[in-house]
Amino acid sequence: MFERIPFYSLTAQHETIRQEALAAIAQVYDSNWFVLGKELEGFESAFAALSKMPYCVGVGNGLDALFIALKSCGIGPNDEVIVPAHTFLATWLAVSRTGARIVPVDADPLTGNISVQKLWHTVTANTKAIVPVHLYGQPCNMTEIMKIAGDRIVVVEDNAQSHGALWEGKTTGSFGRASATSFYPAKNLGALGDGGAVLTRDHETLLLARQYRNYGFETKNVAVVTGVNSRLDELQSAVLRVKLKYLDQWNQERRDLATVYLNALRNIGDVQLPDAPPQAFHTYHLFVIRTARRNDLRAYLAAHQIETAVHYPVPPHLQQNYIEMSFEKGAFPVSEAFAETALSLPLWPGMRKEQAAFVAETIAHFFRGS
Ligand SMILES: *Cc1c(COP(=O)(O)O)cnc(C)c1O
Repeated sequence: MFERIPFYSLTAQHETIRQEALAAIAQVYDSNWFVLGKELEGFESAFAALSKMPYCVGVGNGLDALFIALKSCGIGPNDEVIVPAHTFLATWLAVSRTGARIVPVDADPLTGNISVQKLWHTVTANTKAIVPVHLYGQPCNMTEIMKIAGDRIVVVEDNAQSHGALWEGKTTGSFGRASATSFYPAKNLGALGDGGAVLTRDHETLLLARQYRNYGFETKNVAVVTGVNSRLDELQSAVLRVKLKYLDQWNQERRDLATVYLNALRNIGDVQLPDAPPQAFHTYHLFVIRTARRNDLRAYLAAHQIETAVHYPVPPHLQQNYIEMSFEKGAFPVSEAFAETALSLPLWPGMRKEQAAFVAETIAHFFRGS
């Protein structure tokens, strides 16, 4: 009866670049060089330039990028690292893997990003690093966060969801000493599999990140740190070099679709819309609304062939693996409220505006009870 609307689709994106991407893949195939080669170097230069950071190190995925960025900034056992309570689990896992102690800060109820007010109250003389996450494509208030960090606290941004986003005209991922990102296929810039990168302004951090991703080797077979094997391979690098050229265009499409939602969903039921401050250029990795009737709305949309998602149903502090940290339910109420009320609507480059309008109309019907 209705056209099915998926939550996300790569079909349109990949049709646009089919010839270019297949040619890039064929070139790597014919070169018979698959790891740590020219495609990686080319991508690293291009991504550093796009991100307005001097150095880029391509790695295997976003989780490893965060871990390697933190290690390369000197974060280790017993350091205190501040993370947002409201984020994807990977942010926390990367900090845990360094052996550092996680100090969560609750979310700002308007943006879902780390609350800078609460951050001011949480920072102590023992704070070694802050890991702000630019969630949903929306930049954190980096003016305040850099002020709070001062010269002493290291800032490592998690920019996995915000390729191309800007805070006061400056690219997210370019504020701190380092940032980490993911090229998981569904991110704004996605590979054809796993991928990630570390960006840094600091030459020492660059050298360490290159060592950490490759067994800790400084030169061939000479290890100077305990590294991992996590490298962005030539096939993924080649495809990402192609896709990179379309990032701005695809982000603009995301913003145009978001505008359709924002206009059509004003004053509907108790729906709370994304509310980016004026300094933020939001790239809508996700379009997240909030409503107390989230579960019923989600079921209603599913019955009308509209697929949605929840980011994220279980906050990290309530996950089984963090049980030993003994966080109570209620410890981070804003983060928990997002878990209960947030709903991500369908949005992808190539989605038609009529499809977004239909989703909004169906939501309006739900609240009108018709
Ligand atoms: C996707 C994501 C990651 C992890 O990236 P992977 O490549 O899947 O390991 C980390 N942090 C955030 C905020 C993410 O959205």
